[in-house]
Amino acid sequence: MSLLDWIFPARCAGCHSPGSAWCAACARSLEPLRAEWAPGVPFIAAGRLEGPWQRAVHSFKYLPRPQLAAALARPLEAAVLESGLALSALAWIPLHPSRERERGFNQSERLARVLARSLGVPLCGGLRRVRPTAPQVGLSQAVRRANVAGAFRWQASPPPPGLGLGLVDDVLTTGATLQAAEAALAAAGGRLGAVLVLAVRGEGRPLVAQTLPHPAVTSPGKDCASQLGGAPISDLACGSGVNGQRVRSLAGRARTVLRGAGPDPGPRPR
Ligand SMILES: [Zn+2]
Repeated sequence: MSLLDWIFPARCAGCHSPGSAWCAACARSLEPLRAEWAPGVPFIAAGRLEGPWQRAVHSFKYLPRPQLAAALARPLEAAVLESGLALSALAWIPLHPSRERERGFNQSERLARVLARSLGVPLCGGLRRVRPTAPQVGLSQAVRRANVAGAFRWQASPPPPGLGLGLVDDVLTTGATLQAAEAALAAAGGRLGAVLVLAVRGEGRPLVAQTLPHPAVTSPGKDCASQLGGAPISDLACGSGVNGQRVRSLAGRARTVLRGAGPDPGPRPR
């Protein structure tokens, strides 16, 4: 525990009780959702956007409390491990640079960085938002689609992975943003392998099914997840850690991951 933790003891972002950033009682209230984003593309959410989880996600994003990324990523990590999902790399939904400067951080990138580290997979930062878009909140589905159409582009070499790329976002509402990002991955020769979100708002996007396909081990080809083995995690390309052994080992670690309870890691420099 750091000196700051003694001076400003952590409070749960869900219920404000002292002791941790996301307490064990709030963690027990969370029910992970598993479905399919599209045929063969798993979708995992740590929970619905309601109750303590909604308060925690909103604190993370809007107060903002970027230091909550570690605590809030833990339930999502547990859900991924419990699913046996095979991932070759992670990417995140980018903000436009002007929006990111305004907020001070990108909440989805923070989550993806924590998850990539804990799952032991590379981080791919090649997805960019190439034009500013209006906030999606309050817009109809049709307007949402038009708002984000063509807003993303893959701007890194090598291209995105063709297998096992998990795309991380904070909240799923209609899925319009994720679909636009998926189109950008496809345009660059990649393929969306899984969708990972903290929370689903309301009913979320109608999901194809409520079961995940049988876990599989990925074998990345000549893409960003395989070309830069040994390189550090980068904003522009993928880092190290992709191999079948590592992917296979994730499911076995599921039982060892706590469902969200843990100390607040304290503020992080922006
Ligand atoms: Zn709590």
